[in-house]
Amino acid sequence: MLADRRAKIVATIGPATSAKEHLRKAIEAGMNVARINFSHGHHEEHLKVIQSIRELSRELRAPVTILQDLQGPKIRVGHFIEGFIELKEGEEVKISPNYKMGERALIPSDFKELPKVCQPGTKILLDDGLLELLVLNVVAQEVICKVIHGGILKNRKGMNLPGVTLPVDCLTEKDLVDLDFGLKNKVDYVALSFVRYGSDIKKLQELIQAKNPGTKVIAKIEMLEALENLEEIIDLSDAIMVARGDLAVEVGQSQLPRIQKRIIRLCNQMKKPVITATQMLDSMVENPRPTRAEITDVANAVIDGTDALMLSAESASGKYPFKCISTMHEIIMEVERDDELYYKFSMDEKFSEIADSISSSACLSAFKLDATAIVCLTSTGKTATFISRIRPKCRIIAVTHIEETLNRLELAWGIQTFAIKPYRSADEAMFQIEEILLKYKLVNVGDKIILTLGVPVLEQVKTNSMRVYTISGEIPATDPKSIPLRCK
Ligand code: ATP
Ligand code: MG
Ligand code: MG
Repeated sequence: MLADRRAKIVATIGPATSAKEHLRKAIEAGMNVARINFSHGHHEEHLKVIQSIRELSRELRAPVTILQDLQGPKIRVGHFIEGFIELKEGEEVKISPNYKMGERALIPSDFKELPKVCQPGTKILLDDGLLELLVLNVVAQEVICKVIHGGILKNRKGMNLPGVTLPVDCLTEKDLVDLDFGLKNKVDYVALSFVRYGSDIKKLQELIQAKNPGTKVIAKIEMLEALENLEEIIDLSDAIMVARGDLAVEVGQSQLPRIQKRIIRLCNQMKKPVITATQMLDSMVENPRPTRAEITDVANAVIDGTDALMLSAESASGKYPFKCISTMHEIIMEVERDDELYYKFSMDEKFSEIADSISSSACLSAFKLDATAIVCLTSTGKTATFISRIRPKCRIIAVTHIEETLNRLELAWGIQTFAIKPYRSADEAMFQIEEILLKYKLVNVGDKIILTLGVPVLEQVKTNSMRVYTISGEIPATDPKSIPLRCK
């Protein structure tokens, strides 16, 4: 069943996946998180996607996290008359914010300051670094360049100027409008692009606080400055994305593997979910099968400790969007058979709060008792996230009546969620939990499970206790239609 996979799958929604019947297929194939990239598309399209996902999610009883990705100060080329142009090695091309439409050797850009920040010798990379230009001269509003590495340049591809500190704010005017839209339509996470400092995150959080306080923040790590302030940024954020597209261009490609591993390690230590993104199954944009290198990249990200793996163009605009999701699912399931991935206890670590100590104790007990599941009574999902970080081999099940929490937890490693009705005592909650676990065949009679909770239950205190239960009782009759998608 889909719920057996522990690392989660983020799929970028685009023309290949945005229709409701396509979103259904994506969820059925194993998408846990839908990423809407606000670099592309319009608000009406995004709204339809959000509404369709929420409807499908209720119908299939499969919570889905909705992640709004803000474009940030990304510099892009504009549109070309034919949708693309070819750049030939050695030829001269001009870039200018003044061109309305691009054509042979003329590239429009949406970045007004471009002529100001370029000088002879500046390197300009296009399309995540696939194409390269060298600035020869700047004449008024035109930047004159020589093509170093040519190829096809399509509409709206990104532009990077590595090493040039750009006079830009990490939240642009467009981002503020998009953020307003996202908060109004209750996205679960907002991802901020080109974060450089902790203050970037704080600024976003202030805006969120004023409009929809529950919304969580993801910092996309893709700038050199962010690496210098990494601990502070991770500490302030709710989750992190290793945004390898721009990151590789900014730091130099051969640095990427080392940096990726460092970010994942630090996030694991600091108890924050981490997403590995970009080109994971890139060749599947065109082909029905991935390369050996891609299969291994997905596997290695899981082994390194990634919570969630992301598809970009593969699911947004590729030829095989659903096959990409199921391929990723299969690769992850196979890697996760390895026992070495589980129970990452640390003897050195200090517990910063009570929930931390309960989480570790619950995992230790689960390990020693060979328990089938750790169940968290939760309202925010925090304890479940702490438990997830220890990577127990048994199931992690978070239960709550709060729909936002159910949706949001879909991003974190290994967490499965179920809605239960509000309860007045642990016994009342346990009664519902036992029924769910037996009905959906997640446990057998006689299995041990661990429960984490805050006592007294009625006062809704933070997690401070754990209990061990042995599942007893009868297996209730189940109508196959009532089984949630991921338990089938
Ligand atoms: P970012 O730097 O934020 O990752 P990107 O341009 O690389 O921006 P991705 O989300 O990584 O965008 O997606 C890769 C490609 O998929 C894009 O370049 C674009 O061609 C296509 N794409 C993604 N989302 C959409 C969309 N909503 N509409 C059209 N094309 C899209
Ligand atoms: Mg971006
Ligand atoms: Mg990208």
